[in-house]
Amino acid sequence: MNYSLYLIDDRLVIDLRETDKDGLIKGYTGKPEYFESNETFYQNLIGEVNLTDEQLIKIGLEYMNGGLCSYCGESANKVRPSPFMGDTGSMCKDCWDMTKREYAASHDEHIPQFEDYPHWKEEAR
Ligand SMILES: [Zn+2]
Repeated sequence: MNYSLYLIDDRLVIDLRETDKDGLIKGYTGKPEYFESNETFYQNLIGEVNLTDEQLIKIGLEYMNGGLCSYCGESANKVRPSPFMGDTGSMCKDCWDMTKREYAASHDEHIPQFEDYPHWKEEAR
């Protein structure tokens, strides 16, 4: 299927033609991101891209497993709940690995491998 490709803030964004519950557009940038549905979104049409079903499933999984990291504020293909008790934030692998190293060095506490999270989704709905 063909999807429109837009240039937004100097980044290429694929309009997946889906919105979340808040009406934000799913705009794939190589990472699962959301964009405000307004005129500026549709201003700079660059062209079209063809996505296969396989690619769409992969992207769908990134929207399920990934999102915004509460620590660095960046979008990531995978985020998991923070390792800190009582913290409801999500953490990307970069922040996770940094925290893991810090904790191993100064707190003598073990934080598991980022990828060992048992709840990663492997199949799209
Ligand atoms: Zn992060």
